[in-house]
Amino acid sequence: MTRVFNFSAGPATLPEPVLRQAADEMLDWQGSGMSVMEMSHRGPQFMAIMADALSRLRALLGVPPGYEVLFMQGGALGENAIVPMNLLGDQHSIDFIDTGEWSKKSMQEAARYARVNVAASSAEDPAGSYTRIPARETWQLDANAAYVHICSNETIGGVEYGFTPDVGSVPLVADMSSSILSQPVDVSKYGLIYGGAQKNIGPAGLTIVIVKTSLLGRALPCTPTAFNYRVVAENGSMYNTPPTYAIYIAGLVFKWIEDQGGLAAMAARNAEKAALLYDALDRSALERGGLFVTRVARDCRSRMNVTFHLRDEALTAPFLAGAQARGMVQLRGHRVLGGVRASIYNAMPLAGVQALVAWMAEFEAANG
Ligand SMILES: *Cc1c(COP(=O)(O)O)cnc(C)c1O
Repeated sequence: MTRVFNFSAGPATLPEPVLRQAADEMLDWQGSGMSVMEMSHRGPQFMAIMADALSRLRALLGVPPGYEVLFMQGGALGENAIVPMNLLGDQHSIDFIDTGEWSKKSMQEAARYARVNVAASSAEDPAGSYTRIPARETWQLDANAAYVHICSNETIGGVEYGFTPDVGSVPLVADMSSSILSQPVDVSKYGLIYGGAQKNIGPAGLTIVIVKTSLLGRALPCTPTAFNYRVVAENGSMYNTPPTYAIYIAGLVFKWIEDQGGLAAMAARNAEKAALLYDALDRSALERGGLFVTRVARDCRSRMNVTFHLRDEALTAPFLAGAQARGMVQLRGHRVLGGVRASIYNAMPLAGVQALVAWMAEFEAANG
C-alpha cells in the first residue's frame, strides 16, 4: 500500500489513524455486527455516535451556551441559500465582504432572496484582483443589514482573514468551509458559522452549522422544513436522516484533533507548515531570481491553501508532473487562477510540506 501526499482542496486528505480505525470497524462496529452505514439513525448505537460527535465539536470549538451546533446537508453552497432564508426575517438587505470566488458565489445566491450590499471588495485591488482582505476601516456597513457575510478563508485564491472583524450589533456570518478547526475561534463573535466538512473535517455530505439560538425562528415561509434551523435544532439534527457515515468519520476526526492537543496545537502545526512553504516562496523571490511567485498580500496569506505561480507558465506542467512522480498529487491550481495550489489542511503532515519544498528546490536548481 502506498499513500500519497494529497494536496487536494477538497474533498481532502484525512488523518491516517482515522482511516485505519474506520477500516477496522467497517464490517462490525464495536460488536454491533454491522457497519455504521447500516445502522438506523434512531437506534441507540448511532444516537451515541451522534451525541459523541456533537459534544466533541462543541468542546473543541468552545461553543458557548446560547448556540446550536447542527449537522446538516447541502454543503456550503446550499447554506448560501439556507442562511438568508433563515436569517433575513423582516429585513431586506445583507452586507457582503467580497474577497474571492466563494464570497462571490455567496452573493449571487443571496441576491435571489435579498438586496446584496457589497460593503467592501478586493476584486479591483491595484495589487491584483482578490489578493487581500479589505481593511476593516474601509467597510461601508449598513446598520439595518440582516447580517454581514464574510468568507474566512478563500479556498481558491488562498486569501485568509487574520482577524475577526467587529461589526457591531449586526450578526456576523462566516463561511468557514476551509478553515474550520484549523485554529481556535471565538464563536461568541459570530451569529452563525457554516462549512462543508470535506476540507478540514471529514467526508463530503456533512455540513456544519453553528448558530446563535436567538437568531432562530425568523425563517421565511418558503424555507424547506429540512433546512429550517429551528426545526433542525429542535430535532437534534435528526429531523430527517442525517449523513450518518460522514458524521461517524467526523467524530473520529474530532477525537484525533483532541489527541493532537486540540485547536491550539493544530494552529501551531498549521503555522509551521504554512511558514515552511511561504518561506520557500519568499526565498525563491529574493535569492533565486523568483521561479515561484505568490500574489497574495503577506498579512492575508492563507494557512490552508497556498497559491502560487511559476514565473514561466510553461514550467507549471513539468513541475506538477514531477510532483506527481514523487507522490505529491492534486497540486494543480483552480481553473480560475491556474498555477499551483497546495492545500495543507489539518490532516496534511509536516512531512508532506517538507517533501513539496524539497521538490521546489530541486526543480528550481534544474530550471533556475
Ligand atoms: C469548498 C467551498 C465551498 C463549496 O462547498 P460545497 O460543500 O461544495 O457546497 C464554499 N465555500 C468555501 C469557502 C469552500 O472552500
